[in-house]
Amino acid sequence: MIYLDNGATTFPKPTAVKQKITDSFNRYSANPGRSGHKLSLIASEEIYECRKSIKKLFNAQSEDSVIFTMNCTMSLNTVIFGFLREGDHVIISSLEHNAVVRPLEYLKDKGVSYSVFDYSSDDDEVIDNVRAVITPRTRLCVCTHASNVFGFRLPIERIAALCRFYGIKVCIDAAQSAGVLPIDILASGFDFVCTSGHKSLYGPMGTGILVIGDTELKPLLFGGTGTDSANPHQPEEPPERFESGTANLNGIAGLRAGVDFVRRRGTDNIYRHELALAGYLHSELMKIPQIILYNNIEYGKTAPVLSFNIDNVYSEEAVRMLDKYGVCVRGGLHCAPLAHRFMNTIDSGTVRAVPSVFTAKSEIDRFISVIKNILPKLLDNGKKV
Ligand code: PLP
Repeated sequence: MIYLDNGATTFPKPTAVKQKITDSFNRYSANPGRSGHKLSLIASEEIYECRKSIKKLFNAQSEDSVIFTMNCTMSLNTVIFGFLREGDHVIISSLEHNAVVRPLEYLKDKGVSYSVFDYSSDDDEVIDNVRAVITPRTRLCVCTHASNVFGFRLPIERIAALCRFYGIKVCIDAAQSAGVLPIDILASGFDFVCTSGHKSLYGPMGTGILVIGDTELKPLLFGGTGTDSANPHQPEEPPERFESGTANLNGIAGLRAGVDFVRRRGTDNIYRHELALAGYLHSELMKIPQIILYNNIEYGKTAPVLSFNIDNVYSEEAVRMLDKYGVCVRGGLHCAPLAHRFMNTIDSGTVRAVPSVFTAKSEIDRFISVIKNILPKLLDNGKKV
C-alpha cells in the first residue's frame, strides 16, 4: 500500500508516538489536573511537557498560551466565535478551508461580514490584495499558511506586519504547515495560531492546538477545569479558560512524542525531504500528456502538497481506481471550495498527493507506474468531466 493522504492525516505515526500513547494508557491514564494523587500528577506533568515542546517548536510566548483542542477546526472556531462581535469585518485569503469559511458564513446572520483577498505567487501582489480589502471595521484576518489543496504558501509574516499597522488581529491556519514550514509566533507577532496535532506534528487524531497571544478571547466551552472550583465563573487565564472538561491525555501524550520527533528531525529537514518527493512526482507527472498540474513545487514558495487531474476524469473516479491498486490519495474538494473556485477546479476537484517524512522515493515511483497503468482504463471508463 502507498499512503499519500498525509494532507488529511499522517500515517504511519512514529514508533515513539505509538509507544507513548500505549505507555500513558498502561501507566498513568488518570484524570490530569483533577486529583492530587500520583497518577493524576504524572498525567498533568505529561500535558505540561507537551505544552513546553509546542512552545519551543513555535516560539510561543509561554506554555500557558498553548491550548489543546480536538482538531484545527475547533481551534479556528474558538478564535472566530470567541473574538468576533456584531459589526466586525474579517478578511480571509482565497485559499481558506471550510473550517474558516463556514463559521464566518454562519456569523453573517449575527452581523459579522467578511471579504476575500486573492492569493498570488507574487508576495507584493498578495500584500496589495490584503490592503485592498481592509475596511475601518476590519478586526481580524484569518489566513492559511499553506493551501491544503495546492500547497501555495502565503507570506504570513508580511500579512501580519501589515495587519498590525492597521490594528487588525491575525489568526494563522497552520493545519498544513505546522511541522513542515517554520513558524515563529513571537518574531512574527501572530495573535492566534491554529493547527491540527494529527497531521505533520505526527500526533494522533483528536488532537489540535491553539496558541494565543494576549488577546482577549471568549471560550468556546465552559465547565470544569479542575481549578478554582468554588467559583461559578470560568477562569480568566489560559490555558484553563479554554480547556473545560477532561483532557485527551493519551492523545496529548502521543502529540508530545510527535512534536519532539519533529523537533529532533528539524522542520527544515522534513520540509526538504517532502518537497524533494513532491518535486520529483511533479516532474514525472509533467511527462504524462493527459495529466493537468496546478502548482509548481518550489522551495520556500510551496508546501509539499501536489494537486493534479487526469484530463476529463473526475478526481474522485481517479482516486477510486488508484485505491484498487493500493494507492491512498484524496480527491474532490478537500473541504476547500473557495480554493477550488479560485483555481477553477470546483467541478472536477483535484487528486491530492502529500508525502510524509516516512515516504520513500520508491513509493513515488510505484505511484507513477500505477498512474501510467490505469490511465487507459480511466480514459475509457472514467466519468468525464
Ligand atoms: N485548515 C486546513 C488548511 C486544513 O487542511 C484542515 C484539514 O484538512 C483544517 C483546517 C481542519 O483540520 P482538522 O481536520 O484538524 O480540524
